[in-house]
Amino acid sequence: MLHVSCFMIIDTHAHLNFSAYKNDADEVIKKTLAGGVFVINVGSQYSTSARAVEYAKKYDGLYAAVGIHPLHLQAQKFSYHDPDEIEEVEIETAGEVFQKEKYLELAKNSKVVAIGEVGLDYHHFEFEDNIEDLKNKQKEIFLEFIKLANVVEKPIMIHCWGVKSRQELDHARTDAYDDLYEILEKNPVEKKGVIHSFVGSFKTAKKFIELGYLIGLNGIVTYGISYDKLIREVDLKDIVLETDCPYLTPVPKKGERNEPMYVKYVAEKIAEVKGISVEEVEKITTKNAQELFRI
Ligand SMILES: [Zn+2]
Repeated sequence: MLHVSCFMIIDTHAHLNFSAYKNDADEVIKKTLAGGVFVINVGSQYSTSARAVEYAKKYDGLYAAVGIHPLHLQAQKFSYHDPDEIEEVEIETAGEVFQKEKYLELAKNSKVVAIGEVGLDYHHFEFEDNIEDLKNKQKEIFLEFIKLANVVEKPIMIHCWGVKSRQELDHARTDAYDDLYEILEKNPVEKKGVIHSFVGSFKTAKKFIELGYLIGLNGIVTYGISYDKLIREVDLKDIVLETDCPYLTPVPKKGERNEPMYVKYVAEKIAEVKGISVEEVEKITTKNAQELFRI
């Protein structure tokens, strides 16, 4: 292989397939690729999964992941807060019914490098929701996608966000990372995967790393020092970089629409906290992503 180089990075979790880019997706894609950033566009429901595949077919350096985000399993409207609560986005979901054959067809495409994003989200439950029902639904569909990942022999891109408070934990009774761990331990994904947008402690990260998973870090780690300890403790060989754009724009671009090029600010933050060079962060995390996703 040629130098994995300081000049190519991979944004392992982006949503250029979302409506935030409906007017300029091609422009952003071209600029991103020209800047040496490869991208995995991740679907959150059938329409965005199909669009991710369509884009991936059209451009070298662009890849896709297909799946149903747990929040798209129930019809609902909620406000999306980033951890600083500076930005607030209204999201409406239709409540998708999982159609195995349609996803299998997408998943088989050679530019599809992962199944996702799929997983558990206990972060947006309302107190009036029947939480047991919602959790069971999320788990049931997650298991279907684990099966699909094993059928097509691809890794999985996991979304997992827990409850927001102790009071909510009492209501939900279990936290998402604990439930996720139990599911992955009992239902192994052959090609492993990424716990994307990881927001847990090192103790939690370590459990998933020991199961063979990588930890996806994005702009959240640039919002102050809350994740510095995690960054210091997680080995570079267990990290992949991502943006989760259009959301979670890293400092210093916070307030703008996020885009894959800004993945470099995540690399810079990790380098700064670990006291190593940005090149080393980019080199190792790119290698991690290339090996996992076979890019
Ligand atoms: Zn995402």
